[in-house]
Amino acid sequence: MIRPAPIVAALPSSTPFVGPERLMRERGLYTLVRLGANESAFGPSPAAVGAMGAELERTAWYGDPDSFDLRVALAIKHRCTIDHLTVGSGIDDIMGLAVRAYVAPGAVAVTSTGTYPTFDYHVNGYGGVLARADYRDDGKPDLDALARLAREKRAALVYLANPDNPSGTLFARAEIERFAAALPRDAVFFLDEAYADFADESDLLSPTFEDRLIRARTFSKAYGMAGARIGYAITSEDVARTLDKIRLQYGINRNAQIGALAALRDDDFRALVVRETAVGRDEYAVLAHELGTSSLPSRTNFVCIDFGTQRRATIVRALLDRGVWIRKPGAPPLDRYIRVSVGTVPMRAAFADALRELVARGQA
Ligand SMILES: *Cc1c(COP(=O)(O)O)cnc(C)c1O
Repeated sequence: MIRPAPIVAALPSSTPFVGPERLMRERGLYTLVRLGANESAFGPSPAAVGAMGAELERTAWYGDPDSFDLRVALAIKHRCTIDHLTVGSGIDDIMGLAVRAYVAPGAVAVTSTGTYPTFDYHVNGYGGVLARADYRDDGKPDLDALARLAREKRAALVYLANPDNPSGTLFARAEIERFAAALPRDAVFFLDEAYADFADESDLLSPTFEDRLIRARTFSKAYGMAGARIGYAITSEDVARTLDKIRLQYGINRNAQIGALAALRDDDFRALVVRETAVGRDEYAVLAHELGTSSLPSRTNFVCIDFGTQRRATIVRALLDRGVWIRKPGAPPLDRYIRVSVGTVPMRAAFADALRELVARGQA
């Protein structure tokens, strides 16, 4: 019998995400209102679609392994030089590079139980050891517990998403600064800013290029380009050089590079998406109230609505039977909630109608 390498042989077969395509195949559904993965319901900027369409014929070419044009545009946006920027095929990819670069087999990585799971997936895959802090009872990541755990375990890498997934929490700049300062001096802080484009610049960290900090951004959420697979890290030059040693030099889709560049130049579109997303979030909060429950404050493109630990599983299944796909956080205390992405007006209406019907029938 052939044996995989020990770290891989020890991994359980797992599926961190069951895709909506599989759910549709299993249920024989031909259409689905996709509100489960925080994809943008508003699509990419028309400018990005145009730019990618015009370049499709050159798909025979590899993309620029330096992602030079894109990094120049990003350097302007983030007030840094291109030597602080590493482009990858999404934050998921960047996260894998960070774990591979900074978590040696047996070293400890710290995260929150029930937060974005791809971090755990990489730590396990590279033979690291996970230490997890619970969320606070109010549904927010527990920054004090995370920092304490990082110090106790001498963590090599610490993960936090801000704004957070699945709670939607945005920590203010000062809170993130305090948290970073409370981490061990030699721990690397992976700050996942997948939803930063929905926040105001004044809420976020100002550009800082400490060796201990890796900030990750993506075109998957506010820019509506999840299927293109492109994101980037903002780091010190030293960290960028380290990531450069192990990244797949031709791992970026050429069309994604072109689309991302065009999307960056169309900030009006992003601003429109951000405004419409805020309207949708408010609608969901009102809906929760109308149905006699509550929702968590969110600064992302999704909202968590409280239905209790038992009911929410029924709700997710019953909504799927009605062609509406959402997800539910898996770990306490967030396992009382369903998590629904902000859709377009008709998508929100389909969700609200189906949910109202379930509640009226006592099914939820
Ligand atoms: C969606 C999401 C990601 C994935 O980003 P990609 O760039 O599509 O890989 C990463 N982190 C969080 C917190 C997310 O919600």
